[in-house]
Amino acid sequence: MGIPEAGPDARARPGAGPLLNLHAILPRSRANGPGARVVIWFQGCTLGCPGCFNPDTHAAEPRLLLPAAAVVARVVAASCNVEGISLSGGEPLQQPEGLLALLEGVRERTELSVLLFSGYTLAEIRAMPTGPRILALADVLIAGRYVRTRPPGAGLRGSANQSIHLLTGRYTLAEVEETPPAEVILHPDGSITFSGIADPGCL
Ligand code: SF4
Repeated sequence: MGIPEAGPDARARPGAGPLLNLHAILPRSRANGPGARVVIWFQGCTLGCPGCFNPDTHAAEPRLLLPAAAVVARVVAASCNVEGISLSGGEPLQQPEGLLALLEGVRERTELSVLLFSGYTLAEIRAMPTGPRILALADVLIAGRYVRTRPPGAGLRGSANQSIHLLTGRYTLAEVEETPPAEVILHPDGSITFSGIADPGCL
């Protein structure tokens, strides 16, 4: 597995920053980190973990293309109802320039905490060209491939081999581990969103 090449985020728009290819944005979740959080799922992942819960996020074809600045604006608009953002996927680190621009904008315009899920390990992220700058803007990293044969671990780990890295003093391990394993959100239009690390078939 190599370091990701520049993806769709490399197509910068004048004044709006890199484009992000996203799967979805959820303005408020209780099952993706401490407290209530905006969740941003990235679109595209080449890591191919067998049994991945989110296969719809794997294709790199454009799904929800937004300039990083527009995503920052959505986060700012939702910021009064949440304490942080969680970035998931798909694989956020496969859109490194867009991810970096998003994090810089969120840090500049809000006091929100940042939790990052990645299939890469901490060492792999540190070796990426923009990895150290991205890590410097995150509070918590949940890292490593999903391994179907390993049972879910405490604290947002979809499989027990994954690691929790407290990158700042913003949260304790206990606070991360208190995150509910799953939630089901019923929207006003009748649609349902499932979120979290638990298998929906086991709820
Ligand atoms: S890194 Fe995440 S999204 Fe990608 S295949 Fe593995 S579990 Fe699925």
